[in-house]
Amino acid sequence: MSDSYVIIGDGIAGASAAETLREQSPDAEITVITDEGESLYNRILIKEFAKGKLPEAPISIHDEGWYDDHDVDLRLNTVVVDVDIENDAVHTHEGETFEYDALLLAVGGTPQQLPVGNADADGIHHFWTFQDARKIKASVEDADQGVIVGAGLLGIDFAAICGAQDVEAKYLMRGDCWWRYALSEEGAEIMHEAMRERGVEPVFGSGVDHFEVDDDGHVEAAVDPNGTRYECDFAGVAIGLDLNSELIEDTPIEVDDGIVVDEYMRTNVDNVFAAGDITRFNDLILGEHGQNGSWGSAKEQGTIAARNMIDYGSEEFKWVSSYSITHFDFPFLSFGHPTLGEESVEATTDDGEWRRVALKDGRIVGGVLIGDLSPQSAFKQLMREQRYVADQTELLMEPGFSVDDLAPTTEQ
Ligand SMILES: Cc1cc2nc3c(=O)[nH]c(=O)nc-3n(C[C@H](O)[C@H](O)[C@H](O)COP(=O)(O)OP(=O)(O)OC[C@H]3O[C@@H](n4cnc5c(N)ncnc54)[C@H](O)[C@@H]3O)c2cc1C
Repeated sequence: MSDSYVIIGDGIAGASAAETLREQSPDAEITVITDEGESLYNRILIKEFAKGKLPEAPISIHDEGWYDDHDVDLRLNTVVVDVDIENDAVHTHEGETFEYDALLLAVGGTPQQLPVGNADADGIHHFWTFQDARKIKASVEDADQGVIVGAGLLGIDFAAICGAQDVEAKYLMRGDCWWRYALSEEGAEIMHEAMRERGVEPVFGSGVDHFEVDDDGHVEAAVDPNGTRYECDFAGVAIGLDLNSELIEDTPIEVDDGIVVDEYMRTNVDNVFAAGDITRFNDLILGEHGQNGSWGSAKEQGTIAARNMIDYGSEEFKWVSSYSITHFDFPFLSFGHPTLGEESVEATTDDGEWRRVALKDGRIVGGVLIGDLSPQSAFKQLMREQRYVADQTELLMEPGFSVDDLAPTTEQ
């Protein structure tokens, strides 16, 4: 049995692994290394801080005393630069070495910068850490006009922050609607309307060709590929993540747009595991390797990884993720893999209520609910059970749908 564990990353995946390891292995040596200057906080609440709706304190989950109380060696402000697979050790930028019996990589990703002129100017923000949120809050409080780029789940956080802080913003989107890979124009229009009500104007067929800066290097405008100039003193960019896999570049650990792990969260190296946003995991429900950037999934992966670090094969990861947005006066939820599948069904079920379900091989693999979340547990159950529903999709769109409404199916 392994009794010396090193975890890189103190986000929710790394922290839930540390918690599980300590619960199940009281005598183990556990070290958690993070390049951030603060211990685990609730990453999904930092937008509420930037909006000015929450103070700092409730966002912290583990203060440093938690690590002392649980006999976990926490190393803040420490970057792991290299993993030495042959000697079961990791090296930090300061030259320290930590040896392990089993290693967990829970390193997540880093927001991408736009590949355009002046993309790193003052006043242009990316959003991942609590430090980012503090800077965003300070910057947005001083701003009158904003520009937002990135028509996805993090971009809309910037829109909500501008709305809450009375910044008039233009939300520049390349396509003709928000999150066009998961929503149709009809569903997205509900979101557009909610943005407009908060002073954020969606602009379609747009994007950023380059930013203009003033004499002090502060952003003053975004110019889109059509040549239209949008003045701004604040810009929020959320166009995706680069996965933090440089530290294993010189190792045999398999990386394929994410660290590849099996359903036990183990990499192709026997005593190296990975969990959270960084993984490309064997998704037992999807029937292929998949990725997931959500809090609940990262937490569960951390827990499952820890159990398998202690006893490999003891528990597999089988999980339907969900991601909700609470910025508007109506609920919004996406679940599973709403951008995958080869077909989909959608319906407007009432004024301001819309749903879409994505199907692969006749089975649900994800979806989006706007306004009415009542079918979420039924859809998730069908997805977990991998039930064939392609012959009854119109029932899925009925208001008040329940699993009992479905007829038994003969399809395997
Ligand atoms: C603003 C925002 C809002 C979000 N809202 C939601 C939401 O509403 N619902 C939802 O489900 N999800 C949401 N998410 C996504 C969710 O927060 C992530 O999916 C989740 O936090 C991923 O956890 P993780 O532990 O895998 O990675 P992370 O939380 O990214 O943790 C990885 C840690 O590893 C550290 N690290 C990386 N490389 C090294 C290294 N070489 N050495 C040392 N440390 C290193 C990083 O600095 C980081 O602290 C949101 C994310 C953000 C940024």
